[in-house]
Amino acid sequence: MDERLCSRVACTSVAVATLTYVYADSMAVLGPLSQRREPHSYDLCEEHSARLSAPRGWQVVRHVALSNDLKP
Ligand SMILES: [Zn+2]
Repeated sequence: MDERLCSRVACTSVAVATLTYVYADSMAVLGPLSQRREPHSYDLCEEHSARLSAPRGWQVVRHVALSNDLKP
């Protein structure tokens, strides 16, 4: 399995998740690292995944638990 790096500028951490923008639904979907790169997806390291914020009016959907988040 190839090691993929975070797509953020100046970040050299290993990617752990893939962010996909679903323009039709104004959703930013964060899921497990995708098998291959796709046009509207970005690989993110753990830190950048955790700090992810969606553009105004967009919704962030997380499909991965990067840490032991407490349920609300
Ligand atoms: Zn990063």
